Amino acid sequence: MNLYEEQMAPLFTKLLRQREFVQHEILRQINERLKSKTVPRILSSQEFERFERSALELKDLWNARRRINDGSYGRCADCKDAIELRRLQARLTTEYCSACQDHHDQPTQTETAPAHSA
Ligand SMILES: [Zn+2]
Repeated sequence: MNLYEEQMAPLFTKLLRQREFVQHEILRQINERLKSKTVPRILSSQEFERFERSALELKDLWNARRRINDGSYGRCADCKDAIELRRLQARLTTEYCSACQDHHDQPTQTETAPAHSA
């Protein structure tokens, strides 16, 4: 483990825990609401969207925690280079460096291109 990982991993673990706590709280509130006998059990579309977002976010957070534990956190899942620190700070759960992310965001055009025939 290098100095960067030694210093950054505890910080990111802490941030991830905080985010997890927030998302857990949102899910818990919605769950309480669903169990309630005094208010209608049907979620509004807003509540449902919030629930979905939190569930997805939580999944990303768990994945990030797993990557911290196995030592792959902060490394791009594609090219294995270190992900830019600014990028990680902006989005804790990112799995790709900005170059690879651009590649992922782009629609695949090569598949529709006609193949060369010799
Ligand atoms: Zn990459």
